[in-house]
Amino acid sequence: MACNVTERQRAGVINPIFTCQPAGAQFASIGIKDCIGIVHGGQGCVMFVRLIFSQHFKESFELASSSVHEEGAVFGALKRVEEAVDVLLMRYPHVKVIPIITTCSTEIIGDDIDGLINKLNDELLQEKYPDREIHLVPIHSPSFVGSMISGYDSAVKDIVKYFATKSEPNGKLNVFTGWVNPGDVTALKHILKEMDIDATVLFEIEEFDSPLMPSGQHVSHGTTTIDDLKSTANASASIALNRYEGGKAAQFLESKYGIPVTIGPTPIGIRNTDNFLQNLKQITGKPIPRSLVKERGIAIDTLTDLTHMFLAEKKVAIYGNPDLVIGLAQFCIDLEMKPSLLLLGDDNPNYGEDPRIKELKEKVDWEMDIITNADLFELEDRIKNKGLELDLILGHSKGRFTAIDNKIPMVRVGFPTYDRAGMFRHPVVGYAGAIWLAEQMANALFTDMEYKGEREWSLNVW
Ligand code: SF4
Repeated sequence: MACNVTERQRAGVINPIFTCQPAGAQFASIGIKDCIGIVHGGQGCVMFVRLIFSQHFKESFELASSSVHEEGAVFGALKRVEEAVDVLLMRYPHVKVIPIITTCSTEIIGDDIDGLINKLNDELLQEKYPDREIHLVPIHSPSFVGSMISGYDSAVKDIVKYFATKSEPNGKLNVFTGWVNPGDVTALKHILKEMDIDATVLFEIEEFDSPLMPSGQHVSHGTTTIDDLKSTANASASIALNRYEGGKAAQFLESKYGIPVTIGPTPIGIRNTDNFLQNLKQITGKPIPRSLVKERGIAIDTLTDLTHMFLAEKKVAIYGNPDLVIGLAQFCIDLEMKPSLLLLGDDNPNYGEDPRIKELKEKVDWEMDIITNADLFELEDRIKNKGLELDLILGHSKGRFTAIDNKIPMVRVGFPTYDRAGMFRHPVVGYAGAIWLAEQMANALFTDMEYKGEREWSLNVW
């Protein structure tokens, strides 16, 4: 009995867990204020990504496409980017930042977007828009390597690298949230406020839970400004909550500007949130206030009510973004559950060196498989054909049919989640996230017991 880390053995991916690198770059770009990314590729590279964002957040987002067609795919399509930049600037007078995001096709044909950006800076922007502040940022995101996770990580780094400008120290903390939900950002900002920490929350997407205002505004935008990005080089420290989603940018700021970096922990569960608060205390010197100790106490009380009676020994499969999956697995273990299968949807070679995975390999004393480069067929195949018995599945909506078909209770968590209402509003991080997750898991099990006619539960002995 042990924790094994292996790569998917079968050739071909069936029902992928992730989408491609440009999707991650697009998610980073919509976290910036006054920004619309141009995806240099076929229109579907934007259309489907926008659709997933809209399905998940139930909001509308602005992203543009250079809309490469056959001629461009054969002879080069830089002209399409030139036209796209001009059209975008004409139609959107407020736009200041345009990340130009490559795709598989335009990387293969070798379109030189860096050279084109130099040309546009020297010609179009000077001649036609001399009085506007405009930043064209090249983002290379070929989709034949990595995944939406590495695409997000690289784009965040490229954008920070472009803007970061050394001047006077600002005494602030850079916080790279990673690929989270608005509810997570609200929970993180709450913790920072309670600890009286002045922080710049980067690629900030709290307003993806947008109000419908009398003005009729119906498009969601991130709120990270150009000044926020510039000032990242003047912070007192950086903290990247997710190793694989923002970690690169934080490490860049350390190597180029000497900004000390703390990577993780992804504050999912009590243990990780405790460590996160201790890190904040150590970095800033600010004490942990009684209000957060009380919130922790409420979370512990909630978990105490649920763990031993209902959650202990339950076998769980978890898939999705790697930091989320690992954080959820750690939390489940603290709840005396038994994560049996973790599916990481890409082939990042660094997973084997991840200290959290090393810790799982050392400490887990039951059968746990961690599969890299995994797909959702792996989950289905193991349940149907290889005797994997599960009490619960944690993951995003793309895997729901495996849960439904095999009558396994499921808690929707991660991106994209579109078949349950309002999931983006609830945090998985912090003490609030620990409460929400534990209650969701317990309620999923309770509902399952009702449907399966477990009389003891139906007679309500709790
Ligand atoms: S795999 Fe290539 S063609 Fe498909 S959406 Fe991604 S970048 Fe576009």
